[in-house]
Amino acid sequence: MPGVLSLAAVALTLASPFQSSIAPLPADVRAQLRQAHVWQPGCPVALSNLRLLTVTHRDFDGRPQTGQLVVNKSAARPLQRVFRRLYGLYFPIRHLQLDDAYGRAANRPTDGDVSGSFECRRAAASPCARATTTKAWSNHAFGLAVDLNPVENPYVGCGQSRNPRAQRYRDRSRHRRGMVTRQVVAAFASIGWGWGGSWSGNTKDYMHFSPPATDCRSTVRRSQRTQRGLRDRFDGSTSHRRRSARFSLRARPTIAGGPGRLTDARR
Ligand SMILES: [Zn+2]
Repeated sequence: MPGVLSLAAVALTLASPFQSSIAPLPADVRAQLRQAHVWQPGCPVALSNLRLLTVTHRDFDGRPQTGQLVVNKSAARPLQRVFRRLYGLYFPIRHLQLDDAYGRAANRPTDGDVSGSFECRRAAASPCARATTTKAWSNHAFGLAVDLNPVENPYVGCGQSRNPRAQRYRDRSRHRRGMVTRQVVAAFASIGWGWGGSWSGNTKDYMHFSPPATDCRSTVRRSQRTQRGLRDRFDGSTSHRRRSARFSLRARPTIAGGPGRLTDARR
């Protein structure tokens, strides 16, 4: 009988359907982003242009779990389709909770293997470089990038990774659980997003997925128009509009160039 029961439990786990939802950021999530200093005034995307994407995903034992990400409003529906495909592929994701990414530092997973999207920050420099960050906004600063299992899929430059836990995953010739597969790359490609693992040259960001530079630029321009519109509604003065124009120039991310160019500026 226990055998029958456990078989039933396995069947239930396998049959659990993918579930997801998209919602504007609730007040507690907005507060959490501010508290974690991953969003503040001056960031290139307004909180109103971000969405909370809730998805079912597989853990490393193949069991369904509920995960959440903060993403750009324009990317929420396409990413919902991607996560549906990842679920069908049984692609395991270690940590995909908001608390894992934005919770108190002491409560975050000690393995640091946290997947996610939005974080208002500058792009990380290639491990080839001495500096750790660049002056350009990361695509994550717009919620227009997803990182998957950063330990199993490290950011590598000149054969090096800055993450000591990820060293053994620099070797991509042998597949281990949680590493990005061809099917995962195809799932993101189905919405037009590229993979940092296919950048040419010395630098590869195996965890990273993002839209092509041209799509990013148009989304960013749209989001900046919305921000300017909102500000102008509150303050129609010419000087304010001038300040907004300067803001938009500063906020434009350095994401020019196709795959293989300016790789570390988008990370
Ligand atoms: Zn990334």
